[in-house]
Amino acid sequence: MTGLLRVTGLVAGYDRIEALHGVDLSVAEGRAATVIGPNGAGKSTLLRTVAGLSRAWRGTVEFDGTDVTRWPAERRTRAGLVLVPEGRRVFAGLSVEENLRLGGYAARRSASAPGLDAVYDLFPALVARRRQPAGTLSGGEQQMVAIGRGLMSGPKVLLLDEPSLGLAPQAVRLVTDALVELAGRGTTLVLVEQSAAVAFRVAQEGHLMERGELAVSGPVERLRENPAVLRAYLGEPRIGNR
Ligand code: ATP
Repeated sequence: MTGLLRVTGLVAGYDRIEALHGVDLSVAEGRAATVIGPNGAGKSTLLRTVAGLSRAWRGTVEFDGTDVTRWPAERRTRAGLVLVPEGRRVFAGLSVEENLRLGGYAARRSASAPGLDAVYDLFPALVARRRQPAGTLSGGEQQMVAIGRGLMSGPKVLLLDEPSLGLAPQAVRLVTDALVELAGRGTTLVLVEQSAAVAFRVAQEGHLMERGELAVSGPVERLRENPAVLRAYLGEPRIGNR
């Protein structure tokens, strides 16, 4: 199966420190993939390099049949390769709705751009907050805005960097439910997560990243039983739950 997103032999890093050592990853249209792994394994670097925020030292990123390795980030976003970055970066002084509309401006004229109503359907908690400055929202609500903004740009592939990080349990549940719904509708997702419990609820296929390499890959049902995964997540209580 050819991937809508195809990463081949990707090497990238910071100054002289190599953080990715030749990563191969293919995500077919309509599939939700996850990359899990410990702190510092290289997960964010992988997403940032795919999105064009970090430069690929070697290897290629192909998106929708085109080599985009040298494309600037903004061109990739316009083409539909959209990153929701770590740390739920919202424009604190702008209202929820203004933040969401900004995502729409970045959109190519796309039939798949969902519009505000679809975002509010996915995140009903934002409706009452639509005129409120995004900086006054809870962490979970800010993450909803960040994801909503990504959706407003009509992604063909949505890249999500640690959406559950630092959120209260109830917020993790709401954000995860929304991602499950998106995946169920056939949105192509690449979800980077430290929480295997979140990752395995959302994705159909998974990869364990260790020290800059994808150490184990397969359907999540198999991954959750894998000894290397169990070792990496020893102590995470909810890994087995769906
Ligand atoms: P985390 O969950 O902590 O973000 P990660 O799996 O996403 O972990 P990366 O953030 O991609 O890992 O980091 C991979 C490696 O690159 C680590 O060794 C990290 O210390 C290093 N690194 C990350 N960002 C930078 C940076 N801006 N400058 C120098 N080194 C960096």
